[in-house]
Amino acid sequence: MDTDPILTLDGVTRRYGPREIVSGAGFTLHEGRIACLLGPSGCGKSTILRLIAGLEPLDEGAIRIRGETVSEPHRTLAPEQRGVGLVFQDNALFPHLDVSDNVGFGVRHLKSAARRELVQGLLARLHVDHLAKAWPHTLSGGEQQRVAIARALAREPVLLLLDEPFSGLDGHLRGQIRRSLIEDLRKVGATVLVVTHDPEEAMTIADDLILMADGEILQTGTPEECYDKPVSAVAARLLGEAILLPVAVANAIADTPFGPVPTPGLADGVATILLRPGDLRVSSQGAPATVLSARRFGRETVATVAFADTEFTIRTSTAKLSGGEAIRLEADCAALRIF
Ligand code: ADP
Ligand code: MG
Repeated sequence: MDTDPILTLDGVTRRYGPREIVSGAGFTLHEGRIACLLGPSGCGKSTILRLIAGLEPLDEGAIRIRGETVSEPHRTLAPEQRGVGLVFQDNALFPHLDVSDNVGFGVRHLKSAARRELVQGLLARLHVDHLAKAWPHTLSGGEQQRVAIARALAREPVLLLLDEPFSGLDGHLRGQIRRSLIEDLRKVGATVLVVTHDPEEAMTIADDLILMADGEILQTGTPEECYDKPVSAVAARLLGEAILLPVAVANAIADTPFGPVPTPGLADGVATILLRPGDLRVSSQGAPATVLSARRFGRETVATVAFADTEFTIRTSTAKLSGGEAIRLEADCAALRIF
């Protein structure tokens, strides 16, 4: 990437008493890109955001914003001096201020004409200008969130941090609200770090993905890289169901249960094959498996199968399956991920 990093975390460790909550975390964020920090609940995502925002000190490592060190042990630059906007899960608009005044709150030092222009511009860019005079409690969840983001953007942050921004939204509206908000943030050109525990959300919105579990950063990369070439079983499963099988490679050919697969560039020895649910088909040929349980959902059958020492879920709309049945599974060898 040719732009200077907006943010760098370098070996960041944070402890609460004897408990290490964040362990040696490192990643970088680049200008104008949308990154997602994905990990299960309790793994330390919000703590990382608070560390970046300067709301708490770190114990080891360093955080740099545009090359300037803003956190290191015993030195934490104040939040208002970092140019970082943080929008929490619960938005927390000021209830006694209308939408315009909420958005203008952080820029009260501006002359009133300049402030009004800035606020109106932001409300328009986030498509909530019709709500300028509304009170926070009259807004929907999605509207409150747009206003909270406009308020954070008013201070022209170098970096916008969003903590599980879509988790409070209704299921059927969520995808749509998410798509349009991300589109608007892209138009604004904001550099954004979105925290989520939802793999589908992360895969949908991220330019860059940061996978986290148990206080550690497991992997960074594009969503495709992380999905197709996870560094570990834990990383693979963060992005959805996966089985990882050992496979022997000799003379750049992997001997898979689905037949030989060329693996140019891979050293001889044991490699790993990654299978996702959509990769397998029930077929008259292929690798043997046993159906443990099966259930029909409309035209689709979802079955748990025992396969090569593991259990796995498959979906099929072509085969009728029942528990105990011996089946064969086939995979598209050209599409197999082996590393
Ligand atoms: P996430 O946002 O990924 O769900 P958090 O960063 O909120 O995770 O929390 C990570 C871990 O740190 C959790 O186990 C949580 O209980 C613990 N934790 C968070 N804040 C504090 C605190 N102020 N004191 C002690 N433990 C905390
Ligand atoms: Mg959290």
